[in-house]
Amino acid sequence: MKKEMLKFVDLKQETPEKRSTPKRKGDFKEIYNEFITDKAKEQSSRCSQCGVPFCQIHCPLGNNIPDWLKLTAEGRLKEAYEISQSTNNMPEVCGRICPQDRLCEGNCVIEQSGHGTVTIGSIEKYITDTAWEKGWVKPFKVKRELKQSVGIIGAGPAGMACAEELRKSGYQVTIYDRYDRPGGLLIYGIPNFKLEKFVVERRTKLLKENGIKFVQKFDVGKDKTLYELKEKHDAILIATGVYKAREIDIAGCNLQNIFPAMDFLTASNKKGLGDKVELFDDGTLNAEGKNVVVIGGGDTAMDCVRTSIRQKAKSVKCLYRRDRKNMPGSAREVGNAIEEGVEFIWLTSPKSFIGDKKITAVEVNKMKLGEPDSSGRSKPEIEVGSEYKIQADLVIKSLGFDPENIPKLFNAEELAISQWGTIKIDLKSMQTSLEGVFAAGDIVRGASLVVWAIRDGRDAAEQIKKYLQLKVDKDKSIEAA
Ligand SMILES: Cc1cc2nc3c(=O)[nH]c(=O)nc-3n(C[C@H](O)[C@H](O)[C@H](O)COP(=O)(O)OP(=O)(O)OC[C@H]3O[C@@H](n4cnc5c(N)ncnc54)[C@H](O)[C@@H]3O)c2cc1C
Ligand code: SF4
Repeated sequence: MKKEMLKFVDLKQETPEKRSTPKRKGDFKEIYNEFITDKAKEQSSRCSQCGVPFCQIHCPLGNNIPDWLKLTAEGRLKEAYEISQSTNNMPEVCGRICPQDRLCEGNCVIEQSGHGTVTIGSIEKYITDTAWEKGWVKPFKVKRELKQSVGIIGAGPAGMACAEELRKSGYQVTIYDRYDRPGGLLIYGIPNFKLEKFVVERRTKLLKENGIKFVQKFDVGKDKTLYELKEKHDAILIATGVYKAREIDIAGCNLQNIFPAMDFLTASNKKGLGDKVELFDDGTLNAEGKNVVVIGGGDTAMDCVRTSIRQKAKSVKCLYRRDRKNMPGSAREVGNAIEEGVEFIWLTSPKSFIGDKKITAVEVNKMKLGEPDSSGRSKPEIEVGSEYKIQADLVIKSLGFDPENIPKLFNAEELAISQWGTIKIDLKSMQTSLEGVFAAGDIVRGASLVVWAIRDGRDAAEQIKKYLQLKVDKDKSIEAA
């Protein structure tokens, strides 16, 4: 078995203080410990099998965690895998990148009683990695091929989970995606050190073996309109995610070497996948030797700072306008970044970008927290006269994402959207304002999590099946009449 397959993220048992601190920047031992069957058994047996499975309740997929922990503790890994994969299309992905501290593990009764959570995510990853290793993960056999076809726009986790569930029932499924590789943010957003790309690639390969067709480099809106696709299929799912980066409109924002987070992360991921990336190869999007300033406090910002460290940046600073307690990103990710040498400058906001053509410094204001705003969070206010400069050769903007204008892009003005630009659906049927067109994932929720995208994809598949069955029943009754 490959050594890397046995590694796992075991952060809940070790506080950042307890973990070995890298001796120098870039000398990270990664955040993994060796994880072998004995350790999986030992961790799983810590589950008290409490009567009320709070972990399961707080898992968006309702994973049957207590049962697969029990089976793992007994060494019955194959059965544990069967149960785990029955509710999750990508357990090894969720095990790696779910913010477990906010979901299953954060609600573990043992954690609540102060004894440290059972490391559920790591065990989930271990069970499924073992299943891949042992050849237990196989293409399924479709019992009965159906004529009806579904077109899915977007090969991210929402689209792929929906495709798999539909295909299991025998529907003909085609996924259209504008990128050259399937996976959505799993492939080009989330960095390799959190989610290795082979993990995503073996999943998409399996989906292809299951008979799902992938049409890559196909940009809906440019290559075909939504209505043209609708003509081709009996139902459509829109699972396009959210990609419009929020901007900072301050003096100097057009200077060179200021980039949106996705440009930086995509270049790094493409490079990791062996692609030729001109802007990386010529040094523009490579943090090596540079003073990097990342603006933002979410998980994407954490991915940018940690990627910069791995690219051997000279210094990496993260500016966030609130304090550490109020950061939107996972506390665990912030802890990892600090441990790896990132300097956080909390309560600080950019005022202007300084430089002649290229950025050389960010002028910042110190902030203080005022009264809570409408969201209930303290509103950051500028401390007058607190400006100072921070040296910067590369600035990465990570202020969140909004949806693109999908009705305009798809040439489908009748497609209803919310005030935030997300696609409006009927929460029960998951159907949009257009008959036979469904939507799921980030494009409905706004920027969210992989586990929620999978859940939405599964739910959408159920609703699409009902819709298609109804269509068949209607056609039959017309024929009979
Ligand atoms: C940098 C980063 C790090 C993240 N880290 C985590 C994490 O650690 N844990 C976690 O749970 N979540 C994380 N997330 C969030 C998570 O990745 C998303 O919530 C999830 O991927 C959403 O899935 P989706 O299928 O809705 O959309 P996406 O994954 O965005 O996939 C949408 C797909 O639609 C395609 N598409 C878009 N428009 C078109 C079009 N017009 N025509 C054809 N195809 C189109 C895109 O190419 C893309 O492949 C992160 C997000 C980012 C940006
Ligand atoms: S899918 Fe995520 S929340 Fe659910 S058990 Fe796995 S790691 Fe926990």
